[in-house]
Amino acid sequence: QQAQQGKTYQFKLVLLGESAVGKSSLVMRFVKDHFDEYRESTIGAAFLAQTISLDDNTTVKFEIWDTAGQERYKSLAPMYYRNANCAVVVYDITQTSSLDKAKAWVNELQRQADPNIVIALAGNKCDLEARRAVETKTAQEYADEAGLLFFETSAKTADNVSELFNAIAKRMPLDQ
Ligand code: GDP
Repeated sequence: QQAQQGKTYQFKLVLLGESAVGKSSLVMRFVKDHFDEYRESTIGAAFLAQTISLDDNTTVKFEIWDTAGQERYKSLAPMYYRNANCAVVVYDITQTSSLDKAKAWVNELQRQADPNIVIALAGNKCDLEARRAVETKTAQEYADEAGLLFFETSAKTADNVSELFNAIAKRMPLDQ
């Protein structure tokens, strides 16, 4: 007989950020450990699930909603973050404007989403160090001020991707 003492906690996670910052690529890396240089853009939103074992008795299951960054889908975003437990707001370290966009998403989440939502800021494409436009310190200071988890990630090399989702899992309230 199998001992099944563990508990699984399920959370809804939404990805937000400008188009082409690498939201879908981060999800692909996390869920399938795969990177595709030429994948097509997300239309509307896509859904995937992935679990993380926190310890022998605790599993966190993320229901991941990857939203399209295109402006014409922006009005749909509230539908995805309204009952989200956590959010990953992504920018591209080579595009300063994408950090501004990320900050706008964080503001919107902090005003409109669940007040207990756990938000992580991800500075993606950190493999493109030669083209860096956003300094780590700048983003870290903003994240600290806004109360966000912060990681610089690369969906391409997998740098910090599991660390990002693990940190979110650890920050989630697990005793409800
Ligand atoms: P989304 O629109 O935010 O979902 O972005 P995508 O995941 O579609 O990625 C947009 C483009 O950036 C694609 O060509 C990806 O291959 C590329 N990309 C995504 N993540 C990374 C990364 O970490 N490093 C590099 N060099 N390219 C990336």
